[in-house]
Amino acid sequence: MNDCLPQQTPVWQKVESVLRDVTSSYGYSEIRMPIVEQTELFKRSIGEVTDIVEKEMYTFDDRNGDSLTLRPEGTASCVRAGNEHGLLYNQVQRLWYMGPMFRHERPQKGRYRQFHQFGVETFGMAGPDVDAEIIALTARFWKKFGLADKVRLEINSLGSNEERATYRDALIEFLKLHQDILDDDCKRRMLTNPLRVLDTKNPDIQAVLVDAPKLSDYFGEDSKAHFSGLCQRLDQFGIEYTVNDRLVRGLDYYNYTVFEWITDSLGAQGTVCAGGRYDCLVEQLGGKATPAVGFAMGIERLVLLLETLGLDKDVRPVVDVYVVTLGEKAELIAPSRVETLRDLYPNARIQVNCGGGNFKKQFKKADKSGAEIALVFGDDEIEQDKVTVKYLREQQEQQSKTLAELADLLAKYN
Ligand code: ATP
Ligand code: MG
Repeated sequence: MNDCLPQQTPVWQKVESVLRDVTSSYGYSEIRMPIVEQTELFKRSIGEVTDIVEKEMYTFDDRNGDSLTLRPEGTASCVRAGNEHGLLYNQVQRLWYMGPMFRHERPQKGRYRQFHQFGVETFGMAGPDVDAEIIALTARFWKKFGLADKVRLEINSLGSNEERATYRDALIEFLKLHQDILDDDCKRRMLTNPLRVLDTKNPDIQAVLVDAPKLSDYFGEDSKAHFSGLCQRLDQFGIEYTVNDRLVRGLDYYNYTVFEWITDSLGAQGTVCAGGRYDCLVEQLGGKATPAVGFAMGIERLVLLLETLGLDKDVRPVVDVYVVTLGEKAELIAPSRVETLRDLYPNARIQVNCGGGNFKKQFKKADKSGAEIALVFGDDEIEQDKVTVKYLREQQEQQSKTLAELADLLAKYN
């Protein structure tokens, strides 16, 4: 679990605001859920035989003896909240959330025990139009971040539950024939969650899986139409993708569309965003049958990617303007003059020197603050209702101005 230190928060804030603004521009509303839920919720939704539920959850008994879990993901909580507050039945919802998630994994680059996700969940729309919409929305994130050529899209369809069940049997038959080459993990999964075997990183097993039966061969008309509808819309958007028939995702609730955005710039932890359709989950968690599709992205991986590529520099410094005061009178009065400036330019970031210090010392602090300009109030300036402007980052003569004459200068930061 990491602290996010002051020098890192500007890039986080920028990432968060881009995600929020882009998603709002598609007409999505924010939902905020608690970070703790009944353990049962995650077992019922994510699935008993998944990595998350088997070994990654932070679960504890509270003082009443109820089993609670720090949320490992947001979809289950979002569906729980939607059902509880009647947001889903016979309605269309487009929602987003952002916040910490908790998984007891082996910490490594791009994998932490407390991490943050930005997620989108939509409800009440069964067709591939909304699947394509949320993918277009994610594509717009990459464009905004300058990452469009650093991530690639993989999509797949998991078909319907019935088709998957039939396929599951065929896959188990196939895997049984190749038991000798399966590793322990795959052997265990072969019986509990055989589709996850397709997801193995073991190259020897991957080689054998080339001849495994294909899920898409078990698709009926509806599954085929949904998937081709999605592909057609992605083509229309001009979004490139590859179909990866081994993409199965680690959570049990998906059907039809699944997708991942992957980068090659982060090593093994390359999935920055992942999602899919989960048409049965609302009903499974006690609501009326409601189609749904969504995704979640890991904010740490996104920040890491921006840092790796040097795209994290383009963030606004915390301080635009540093106020230097010289003399007792100026020290007393200047801060109230600055309040007037704050009334006029509420978005300018103005830091006033506190704790005294001579000219040189205050300018050192001004420089360190990252500010572009310093406003110097001396006793003379206070007397004449003026201020001296000094440029900290560019070669320019200092200027003496009235507060009203600062308009051009400060409007830029507003
Ligand atoms: P992975 O295969 O990388 O373990 P996952 O399938 O477990 O991912 P999801 O549950 O789909 O991940 O979560 C969506 C996204 O959240 C991931 O694509 C990733 O960007 C991020 N994420 C998941 N687990 C972690 C973690 N422990 N630390 C940081 N980010 C994570
Ligand atoms: Mg995982």
